[in-house]
Amino acid sequence: MVFQNPVVKELVEKLRIIWALNHASALMGWDAETYMPKEGIKERALAQSEIAILKQKIILSPEIKKLVEKAEKQEDLNDYEKGVVRVVKRDIEKASKIPPEIIAEHARISQEATQYWRIAKEKNDFTIFKPYLEKIVELARKIADYLGWEEHPYDALLDLFEEGLRTRDVDRIFNYLEPRIRKILEKIMSSGRYPAEHELEKIKYDPDKLREVNIKILELLGFPLGSRARLDVSAHPFTQSMGIKDVRITTRYEGFDFKRSILSVVHEFGHALYQLQIDERLMATPIGDGVSLGIHEGQSRFWENIVGRSKEFVEAVTPILKQYLGFLKDYDAEDIYYYFNTVRPSLIRTEADEVTYNLHILLRAKLEKQLLVGEIKVDELPEIWNQYMEELIGVRPRNYSEGVLQDIHWSMGTIGYFPTYTLGNLVAAQMRHYLLNDMPDLYEKILNKDYKPIQEWQKEKIHKWGSTYAPKELLRKAFGEEYEPKYFIEYLEWKYLR
Ligand code: MG
Repeated sequence: MVFQNPVVKELVEKLRIIWALNHASALMGWDAETYMPKEGIKERALAQSEIAILKQKIILSPEIKKLVEKAEKQEDLNDYEKGVVRVVKRDIEKASKIPPEIIAEHARISQEATQYWRIAKEKNDFTIFKPYLEKIVELARKIADYLGWEEHPYDALLDLFEEGLRTRDVDRIFNYLEPRIRKILEKIMSSGRYPAEHELEKIKYDPDKLREVNIKILELLGFPLGSRARLDVSAHPFTQSMGIKDVRITTRYEGFDFKRSILSVVHEFGHALYQLQIDERLMATPIGDGVSLGIHEGQSRFWENIVGRSKEFVEAVTPILKQYLGFLKDYDAEDIYYYFNTVRPSLIRTEADEVTYNLHILLRAKLEKQLLVGEIKVDELPEIWNQYMEELIGVRPRNYSEGVLQDIHWSMGTIGYFPTYTLGNLVAAQMRHYLLNDMPDLYEKILNKDYKPIQEWQKEKIHKWGSTYAPKELLRKAFGEEYEPKYFIEYLEWKYLR
């Protein structure tokens, strides 16, 4: 039994309704992105917001508040019980600190802003989006103040997406990464060993054939398709977990550049694996879920980049690729490896390679932090964006759509989200480092399609705990340290400069 304390047990039971509402809401969200008829969107959004209001009411009820206060005072709680108290307390604080009218305003403005961001991007006209972004920044400042912060208002926003993450962590990480990544990128570009472009990027494929490939690869990885998991299609790939025994991923088929669909499947597989390997005893409790966006992205990046873009993995799946994709008949595993690993300074974050990706995040983190404290104005944003792009990555956007308007995040009112992508890359490389200590034949295992031991290791270190420990505590427990950028640099140097 993971929960023994009667007060915590009662709390967990009383909160099962929240879990059930989350379960319903997750299924409704998954459906909205996959099979729902287009015009269902209005009613679905209304239903989702009613569920959110109901959840808020329950979490802020005097009954729950009293139980949490009582649970906090209990002595000798085990780690799972402490985890429940931590997670529920955090939910109550988040729900109670921001006044309902601000939450409603945030929902309204971000809905409008997303709409106008789409139009602005399509028309390549920043002025359409500008007034909405101004409102969003203003609102973000207010929200940070309501939540409270000590060193920097950005702290309060970061914490919404990654429990315990602070501005000084983000600064430390990027100060370490920036000069090193730029140096590595320069060396890769001048050595020419990794191509900037590959002819396979342009070749068209049959989506039905590529779907077969994706399923074969998922079977190879041990993904429990049909019994506990699904693969579907959506405009943007994502993972949605209904619970520990029902985890669904999606991909897309753009019809060219087949690695994008495959690597997004392997990426989402990493997210799904985390959910699937959570201790079943935590099912339907407040801690039966992945702990944070950064830790989650670490799992997906590990499978996508460390495994999926490795020579050994490409070699392992080449027979599958050649069986279904006739146009590969004159290419060998090495050609395909270089196709999977093109490196070039580029304008669009979502298309960036693993070397340049974090520079795109650094730019966004720097800008949103400056916007928040008024160091730069929304007015100046497009020009400063372009200037930073040129300084950091060496390319300059020709228009707003491939510059400041490319990402949806700010329009949705999410400021403080971007750094979790970089945390994911760091956690992936950190896992690789410690996994290699414990399993020196890691790459042989990848080549021999022996993925179970790798997954077992991840389960023991990270997955099985769900949200029992806060992210930094989980990392300390698993690796004796917190987010640590040096392994990512070591990995890039090993892979690209050896
Ligand atoms: Mg992801």
